[in-house]
Parts: sequence; C-alpha cells; structure tokens
Amino acid sequence: MTLPELPPSTLRLQIDKGALAHNWRELDRLSGTARAGAAVKASCYGLGVDHVVPVLEEAGARDFFVAHWAEVPAVMQHVPAECISVLHGPLGEADIRFAKETGARPVINSLYQARLWRDAGGGPCDVMVDTGMNRLGLSMAEIGEAIVSDLQIHTLISHLASADEDVALNALQLERFTAAAQQVPAQCRSLANSAGIALGASYAFDLTRPGLALYGGIPHPGLAGRIRQVACPQAQVLQLRDLSPGDTVGYNATFTARRAMRSATVSLGYADGFLRSWAKAGMLMHNGTELPILGRVSMDLVIVDCGAASQLREGDWLDLEYDLPRAAQLSGLSQYELLTLLGRRFCRTA
Ligand SMILES: *Cc1c(COP(=O)(O)O)cnc(C)c1O
Repeated sequence: MTLPELPPSTLRLQIDKGALAHNWRELDRLSGTARAGAAVKASCYGLGVDHVVPVLEEAGARDFFVAHWAEVPAVMQHVPAECISVLHGPLGEADIRFAKETGARPVINSLYQARLWRDAGGGPCDVMVDTGMNRLGLSMAEIGEAIVSDLQIHTLISHLASADEDVALNALQLERFTAAAQQVPAQCRSLANSAGIALGASYAFDLTRPGLALYGGIPHPGLAGRIRQVACPQAQVLQLRDLSPGDTVGYNATFTARRAMRSATVSLGYADGFLRSWAKAGMLMHNGTELPILGRVSMDLVIVDCGAASQLREGDWLDLEYDLPRAAQLSGLSQYELLTLLGRRFCRTA
C-alpha cells in the first residue's frame, strides 16, 4: 500500500544557516594564521549533516571530523572523502577496507591501530597524541616508537581536556604538544577545539577543530558576543485546559493549582531530548513570553502555565529556550548534551 503524504511534525528545529556560516567564519578568523576545520560527529551535534555540512563547506571549511566510520557516508555526500578524518580510528579489517575504499583518513590512536594501518599498506593518516587527557591517543612515550615514523602522517592531533577553564593543564598540554610536533613529522598540526581557540594564537597551530561553537555554544567567555544561536527548536500546543484550585497536573501529581489557571499541553517530551531536568526551572516561550513548566516532563508531552499568554491557541508554536549557555543553566545539562539530545521527531529545516 502506498501511504498518503505524512502530516507535518508537531516538532520543528529551525537551523539558522546564516548564523552557522557566521560562526565558522568568526572561528576561522579567531584561529589567526591557522585555518578552522569542523567537528561534524554525531550528525553535526544533532543538527543534521545535510543541513550543516554544505553551509560549512560553502563558508570555507575543508577539514571535517567524525567519530565513527558509519558517519562518513553522509558527510561524503557533500565533501570529498579526503577531507574527512575518523577520530575513533580503525579497530579491524572492515574499518581498514572502508578507509582504503572511501579515502577517508583514520586517526591512529594506539600502537595497535598503527600496526593495523601499516600492515594494510598504510597511506595518509592522522595521529592523535595524548597530552594529558588519558582518553584516546598515543602516549608521549609511544610517539618515539619506530612504527610511528613509518606512518604517512597528514595531521598530528591532540585534544585539550580543560580548554573551557583557566587551569595549568592547558599550558602543560600545549608544551607537550609542541614537543610532540617537533618529534613527529606531519604536514599539519591541530590542538584547539572551540574553547581552545579562545586560549590564544599559540594554541592554534595549523588547524583548529571547533564543534560546539559552530552550533551556537559558548564554552569560553572569550567567545561571548561573537557566536550566534543556530538551533531554534519549537513545539506545538496540542490542548489548552482550565484548572480549578486543587487540580493536580501530570505524572505523580507533583503540581497542584492554587488558583484557577490555564495550562497548555505541548508536543514535547523526554523522548525528544527535553529531559526531566528541565522541569525544575524551565519554561517554553510564546512570542518571548515565558510559560513556566508545570509538573513532570512526560515522554511525549509537557504542560506549561499559559496564563501569561492569553491569546494562545491550540496548534500555536512555542519556542524552547535554546540560547545554549542559558539553557544549560536552566536545565542542568551541558551545552553539548542540549544539542545532541534533540530527537528524531524534530523536523529539521534550514
Ligand atoms: C568533539 C571534538 C572536537 C570539537 O570539540 P568542541 O569542544 O565541540 O569544539 C575537537 N576535537 C576532538 C578530538 C573532538 O573529539
């Protein structure tokens, strides 16, 4: 049976292409003599590869980072595979074959991965050196191993653990990375993520790898006022109701109306990435008017007090607070989580 055309979603996520391009250009400018790349893992932090990558490419980005091999094909629809690096690196034959056949570059993170890649014939790869995060990458001792000098290294990478804080670890990582770059021959050197760009020119090297700030996040006060909001999620009002004093609202009846009031039930829940932690201090907005959340967030629904929006109608769209620093404060979630949580039921448009 052929299905009729699907009705429109009651959830939409507007992606501001102008703001996205502006953010990349601003981060590229702040990177000084280095060029800015783009972290596009996790479907461009949840915003969708097809809406984001063409805009970044058009703005001038040429270096794209994903985490998984499975993330390569979607990005390859928009940029040559040679522009894509896979941060998790290869773990077996299938990964190696995929890398060779597509041309996407593995990031080599361990001596095991280095051997796998060399034994398969090698070719251009990136290398991650761990300068103090103890997460992924060759240790400072391991980069001296003979196998590393056998590799054909395009970009030498390291990742900052605390670039969003003013702590001594940043300078220590910078010092170690500088030493690693002197020891390991590579065409290109890359240390800074979004927050790292704000740490200054000495952290930029040849290539920076912003992710969060491209998408409107502000991980460091040095980026405040320069980065624009990109993701604007909205949800539709399904029903309005009148509550009498003593009526309770939602699961476990955690809110009780003290007076007669009007509530709106909205098509938005934790299955959409609007987690229950929003209930404490959160709200939705109608033309800038704040409508506080009442009771618990359900899987598919949330209830708000719409007393402040007397003209609100069923079917109207409400805005989520997605100025990321503010949203993080209100929800207790990180700016990264707020973006990557946004669920599949949002219809993404740009
Ligand atoms: C995710 C990631 C980035 C981007 O970091 P942001 O803090 O989002 O700018 C850069 N480099 C690596 C290795 C990453 O995993």
